[in-house]
Amino acid sequence: MRFDILTLFPEIVKGPLGESIINKAVSEKIIEINVVNIRDFTDDKHKTADDRPFGGGPGMVMKPEPVFKAIESCKTSESKIIIMSPAGGQLTQEKAKEFVKSSKHFILVCGHYEGIDHRINEIYNPELVSIGPYVLTNGAIAAAVFVDVISRLKPGVLGNSDSLLDETHETDETEYPQYTRPRSFKGFDVPEVLLSGNHEEIEKWKNKNRRKFSTEDVNEHNKCD
Ligand code: SAM
Repeated sequence: MRFDILTLFPEIVKGPLGESIINKAVSEKIIEINVVNIRDFTDDKHKTADDRPFGGGPGMVMKPEPVFKAIESCKTSESKIIIMSPAGGQLTQEKAKEFVKSSKHFILVCGHYEGIDHRINEIYNPELVSIGPYVLTNGAIAAAVFVDVISRLKPGVLGNSDSLLDETHETDETEYPQYTRPRSFKGFDVPEVLLSGNHEEIEKWKNKNRRKFSTEDVNEHNKCD
């Protein structure tokens, strides 16, 4: 699986994707991440990548030529072109699984300022993807989230793929609470049953302590039964 991330700010993506599990997956060649600086595809001496919007309005718009050339530099007939956008379809766990099944090469185009000249949408008919119902300053942050979410679903990226099975968002319930050593911390003890070695009782406890997922009430349930 390969990701080409097209951005004006390569360093933003290199940080979060250059550590830990994702970095290991890159070293082991399970995934490939290529960061493309859109500014390298400008052709004036100031490397101008943005301009004022036609029709007026606040802010600047990313010019179409450098974005077009950057896309052409990595596009193949197999590429899935995605524009990171707050106006896009929301990236959910379900949607992430569909992406993993349907594509092996993602070109992630990251906006900045007011966004990208709309002719890029007209030329490529890309899928617009939002990472959540809020507005970021920059699409590179969203692209890093996209790569992380999609990559960890790819077999071999997580050391233990069982981790994926029980997780929050796999069903409409949250994962059960997790504990490790020490057994007692600040007056709070690990539930006795988890120390019992009784797998049937442990399973029952785990199931009982999953919560129906709801962003409103999940914080109400910090205490286990
Ligand atoms: N003027 C744009 C609008 O109202 O839709 C917002 C532009 S935003 C300041 C700059 C860039 O950040 C966008 O072009 C997009 O690439 C990225 N971005 C912002 N919020 C995002 C989100 N929720 N999901 C994905 N990308 C986002």
